[in-house]
Amino acid sequence: MHELSIATAVIDEVSKHVAGAGGGRVLAITLRIGRLSCVQEGALRFCFDLASADTKLSGARLEIIDVPVRIWCPACGAEQELPGVQSLACPECGRLSGDIRAGRELDLESIELEPLPPPSTEQTASELTSSTSTSTEPDSTAPQPLLERDQP
Ligand SMILES: [Zn+2]
Repeated sequence: MHELSIATAVIDEVSKHVAGAGGGRVLAITLRIGRLSCVQEGALRFCFDLASADTKLSGARLEIIDVPVRIWCPACGAEQELPGVQSLACPECGRLSGDIRAGRELDLESIELEPLPPPSTEQTASELTSSTSTSTEPDSTAPQPLLERDQP
């Protein structure tokens, strides 16, 4: 469960940021995921929904930036973007290179927080709850006498 541990780590990190920002719900987060990190997007989304269910990230949108693999090719003297992850050969000249410049990312790019509500809304809520008056109904649970008539 590679994706579940990633999702848990992301949720932990975002939760720390949220606590530092004063709380509130998370609307969306953006991750940069390199193709060499072998993360399956569908599995990650599934695990994220599962692991975030009881957190401030519940229902948050998960944006994923797909980062292609780039290698440094000494023959071309340039960074080259690879079309896939099957081979680390330069797409221009075919030379193999182990000098990977991008594609292993697993970064938290941004967090979108719900704006905190203004404090005036709490006042109206407390006014509503305090307006319930204590009713003075007769106590219907008082024990009734079982024998009301005198014995003959
Ligand atoms: Zn090359």
